[in-house]
Amino acid sequence: MTRLTRLRSRFVGRGIDALVVTDPVNVRYLSGFAGSFGAIAVSEERAWLFTDARYEGQARELLDAAGSDIELAITRNPIEAAKEQLGDSVRLGLEADAVNWTDLDKWRSAFDSVVATTGLVEELRETKTESEIESIRRAAGLADTALAEVRSDVGPGATERQIAHHLDDSMRAAGADRPGFDTIVASGPNSARPHHTPGERVIEGGDLIVIDFGAEIDGYRSDMTRSFVVGEPSERKNHMLEAVRRAQRAGVDAARPGVAIADVDAACRESLRGAGLDEYFTHGTGHGVGLRIHEAPWVNARATGTLAPGHVITVEPGVYVPGVGGVRWEDTVAITETGVDVLTRAPKDPVLS
Ligand code: ZN
Ligand code: ZN
Repeated sequence: MTRLTRLRSRFVGRGIDALVVTDPVNVRYLSGFAGSFGAIAVSEERAWLFTDARYEGQARELLDAAGSDIELAITRNPIEAAKEQLGDSVRLGLEADAVNWTDLDKWRSAFDSVVATTGLVEELRETKTESEIESIRRAAGLADTALAEVRSDVGPGATERQIAHHLDDSMRAAGADRPGFDTIVASGPNSARPHHTPGERVIEGGDLIVIDFGAEIDGYRSDMTRSFVVGEPSERKNHMLEAVRRAQRAGVDAARPGVAIADVDAACRESLRGAGLDEYFTHGTGHGVGLRIHEAPWVNARATGTLAPGHVITVEPGVYVPGVGGVRWEDTVAITETGVDVLTRAPKDPVLS
């Protein structure tokens, strides 16, 4: 089934006859179009990509090359264009998370019946095709290469920002379109902050260092965290590094088709409880990765779903001890028919001599 067919099969359940997709990532997923101004209207029979004249040539080439069923309609006003194509009496679904208040007023004036929907395209995106997984695997490989190059820089005298920039440059040089998200390099006390922004702090002997980064290719991202320690670690830091590594392994081992997603979170948490560190694990275990760096399925204690082949998720437990530092290990894994395929391959070898 094509993506459009799968999407249409969900209309009845949501009480809509047509859907207008305005989330740029969902527009890209359905059509390949990645310009800054685009929307897709999908009826039971037809579909249109609305964009403006700046994108006419490239949008036409893209749709032709893909043999897409989506027709191109050049317009500055997608609401008027949708009304023209769909008629104003259709029960029109909109993406509630991607329509602002101003536009909602305009949609409501143009159509008799406007229905808020959430997750219609996102739920399709949760299950990746082989070729989507290949893009994520390539992105992960570029990040592995970049870390191998940059690892020798990570040590006393370097700043967080220098390391982050070097990683970003190395990923681009290796063939990435761009970093998959803002690279995190957190050293010493900063490593106790899970989403620290790299700054001018100079790395010192004994520091724990958390590096969380990924690459983007064709819109698809990878996500990996490696932790380091400068010199032989203290007993406490060594315990943190080892315990989180075991917890991460337990999470990856728990991940396979048919398993409750919450059980992957529980596996990491139980392992850390055994090491007396669970109180320092202050975030969820992971998230889906794809055209967005954070997307469904979410891997945490509240998750209600089940893992299935084609899911691509991260497993990333961490512990953050104020005044001491933090440790996180993260891999991006694809769920296969029988287990998992770990896409991020860089060694987990924390001691920097
Ligand atoms: Zn990450
Ligand atoms: Zn992540």
